[in-house]
Amino acid sequence: MKNKNIIVAIDGHSSTGKSTLAKKIAKKLNFIYIDTGAMYRCVTLFAINNDFIKNFEIDEENLKKNLKNIVISFFWDKEKGESLTFLNKKNVEKEIRNLNISENVSYISKLKFVRERLVFLQREMSKKQDVILDGRDIGTVVFPNADFKFFITADEKIRAKRRYDELIINDKNVNFQEVLKNVIERDFIDENRKESPLKKAKNSIIVNNSKLSIEESYNFVLNIIINNLKNEKKNHF
Ligand code: C5P
Repeated sequence: MKNKNIIVAIDGHSSTGKSTLAKKIAKKLNFIYIDTGAMYRCVTLFAINNDFIKNFEIDEENLKKNLKNIVISFFWDKEKGESLTFLNKKNVEKEIRNLNISENVSYISKLKFVRERLVFLQREMSKKQDVILDGRDIGTVVFPNADFKFFITADEKIRAKRRYDELIINDKNVNFQEVLKNVIERDFIDENRKESPLKKAKNSIIVNNSKLSIEESYNFVLNIIINNLKNEKKNHF
């Protein structure tokens, strides 16, 4: 019998490949993967669709009133290592990744009432199973006592190029300078906001993956988790 479920927190800057890394680890270790960024993106999409955000001005009163009408769920295919995000039962996995959402999300994620609601949901989802969550405040706020904490970063131009390469597949009009601007702006807002700013959690391991391939980052993080779990004789595998 396990004592308690294992919690792995992956925080870091935008477009550092946190979610790719977290999904691969979840698949390998048979953990549940929770994409907390997708949750903030869902609230942003909901706000845009309902005109609660226009030109970065937020109608906080109405967004707050309607927050309970936002149902976010994930379909996590362990076998394929795929995660699909649903907003009120609609698959929005692709829609929430577009640049318009990326440009607005950091304004929504600044709001205390939005953070409180999503943190509550993240803790609920993580209660019964071994989980890996990626985001900005997992090791600092959501699970300060997580079993493992990683902080992922990389050079901003390299991050923007990775994001650009992903976006251009679906949208030929994507502009590299715009993507770079968005990466820099999001980091700035996320690091400087009053509520749960992005920062390295105490005891977290920093991974700068500017010069690492996806596989190299994955092996580095995975080995730390596996070796520590073996040492603690938490025999999960
Ligand atoms: O991880 P992703 O880039 O999809 O996150 C989108 C945005 O959601 C971030 O730029 C940040 O503003 C917000 N976020 C957050 N806290 C989290 C996860 C994401 O504030 N735990």
